[in-house]
Amino acid sequence: MTAATTPETGTETVVALAGVDKWFGPLHVLQGIDLTVHRGEVVVVIGPSGSGKSTLCRAINRLETIDNGSITLEGRPLPQEGKELARLRSDVGMVFQSFNLFAHKTVLENVTLGPIKVRGTKRTDAEKRARELLDRVGVGQQAAKYPAQLSGGQQQRVAIARALAMDPTLMLFDEPTSALDPEMIKEVLDVMVDLARGGMTMIVVTHEMGFARTAADRVVFMSDGAIVEESTPDDFFTNPRSERAQDFLGKIL
Ligand code: ADP
Ligand code: MG
Repeated sequence: MTAATTPETGTETVVALAGVDKWFGPLHVLQGIDLTVHRGEVVVVIGPSGSGKSTLCRAINRLETIDNGSITLEGRPLPQEGKELARLRSDVGMVFQSFNLFAHKTVLENVTLGPIKVRGTKRTDAEKRARELLDRVGVGQQAAKYPAQLSGGQQQRVAIARALAMDPTLMLFDEPTSALDPEMIKEVLDVMVDLARGGMTMIVVTHEMGFARTAADRVVFMSDGAIVEESTPDDFFTNPRSERAQDFLGKIL
């Protein structure tokens, strides 16, 4: 079964970008981006380096401001600052290429910190849930260790558990496996496939075609700050329409 047929994919809009522009000085890095992601949908974003994929993710999490257009999460515009912004950041789980764990906290503390500080969850409840999540991503045995004692693949799975602990509305993955040794890529992708099958709404920037084919409902191809093509994984990989997509696929496949 592919994600495209999972019953969780609904018509309710989780995130909607309309006419989003972003400049870095003279550089027009997002050019009129329109993108809507529905509840339970898995959207894979691919495209050449420098095409604006990370900026897109960062804009959705409001790590970057935008210059034109709008971004709404569950129908509400992204908050500008303060408590509301902190809340948004925890509603949108983000997993980066670098693992970004707190080096001086244990694995368990990395996962409980957000729920305790931001959500006001009681420590015992937060720890119980954290252990469940660590088990789910296959690192339950590592709870008492520090990030440096873990492999890259284990650290990335802890980062996923940490994001999940906040019960996010949406998960953003920005090339989550590209800093990993080949033998660790699969263990992280397996966790992501599991999440996708479980109905999580996800935007995933990745060049892992296997993941896209298995888990994506839709592939969005970006080039030079614009969405050039949007289709099902099957369509995109077997029959890319634009020359830029054909070019790109020719280089990576
Ligand atoms: P991708 O993730 O697709 O590789 P990015 O979103 O990281 O692309 O970058 C898009 C473009 O914006 C690139 O040309 C990059 O050099 C530029 N860029 C990204 N972040 C900044 C920044 N903070 N300041 C200036 N230019 C930036
Ligand atoms: Mg990037």
